[in-house]
Amino acid sequence: MRVDIRVVPYTLHLRYTFRVSRAASDTADNVFLRLQSEGIEGYGEAAPIRRYAESPEETMALLGRAAELVPEDLFDLQSLRSRLEQAWGARHAPAKAALEMAIWDWIGKRLAVPLYRLWGLNPQQVPRTSFTLGLDSLDRMLAKLEEAATFPVLKIKLGSQHDLRIIEAIRKRTDRALRVDANEGWTREEALAKIRALKDFGVELVEQPLPAGDLEGMRWLRDRVDLPLFADESVHSPADIPKLAGLFDGINIKLMKCGGLWPAREMIAVARAHGLQVMLGCMVESSLGITAAAHLAPLVDYLDLDGHLLTTDDPFTGVQLSPEARPILPEGPGIGAELRADLFGSARVAAL
Ligand code: MG
Repeated sequence: MRVDIRVVPYTLHLRYTFRVSRAASDTADNVFLRLQSEGIEGYGEAAPIRRYAESPEETMALLGRAAELVPEDLFDLQSLRSRLEQAWGARHAPAKAALEMAIWDWIGKRLAVPLYRLWGLNPQQVPRTSFTLGLDSLDRMLAKLEEAATFPVLKIKLGSQHDLRIIEAIRKRTDRALRVDANEGWTREEALAKIRALKDFGVELVEQPLPAGDLEGMRWLRDRVDLPLFADESVHSPADIPKLAGLFDGINIKLMKCGGLWPAREMIAVARAHGLQVMLGCMVESSLGITAAAHLAPLVDYLDLDGHLLTTDDPFTGVQLSPEARPILPEGPGIGAELRADLFGSARVAAL
């Protein structure tokens, strides 16, 4: 079967500088992939994560040579996975996710079914998504809070000296559900004091309070606080999960961390087997990557699929939100995301 693959870089621009405890950015340099076979196109997206030493340049180079890793039979995802592991080892999850995503999109289109139907999932059983407020000055965070008025669940990025002042000010203005993500930004003692205070502000859960590798610290913290704690930077693959049971209450799964929809489904199963709850999250991604992930939404407890909403130049359209911020899974075949621009043509469309 002849397969043609095109790979292009594309910079997503953010509405606001996006800041978390360790870094800030105004753009996301993602990589898009188009796979064509039998006159059918499948699309994939990679959002390289600097925190894990993945770069857009390397992702472009890897995907540019990826045609040789694609099995003759595109339905044979099992062989794709073993080839990717053989060629790239445990690294390059964003590139793996992009290639696998494009093939799932192709398979869904070839069979004329949306992915959630291919997997037998109930599209009505989808949690509300949170909307993220990046770390910023208190004034700017409150301005963003106003703009996010339609979102019933907010995820607040913390990890500064002003954390409690920020939550107190936000809580004064809204009774919406609040989740907090410290992005590894606290020490043990700081986490203990802050999480106890966050409980009094009615915060629902706290994500990644301590550095990814500090599992001993998590054991110490777990014994001292009673808010649900979710792992994000601490968990990348199914094999990471067993040791987190008892230290965290749940895990945040992202396609760009685990390398695709298949490994994400494995992680959901392993988390369940260990009594952990599941959040499905994202990086700054276009509607393509977000819609691909949304097909797994019926399997999870919490959703944080807002990356595309933070951008100003999304080259795809895809999943829409209901008035209660529940993703409405597209009925189109495959991922169901539509290209809005001539992304793979010779000229990059500058403004959409
Ligand atoms: Mg996080």
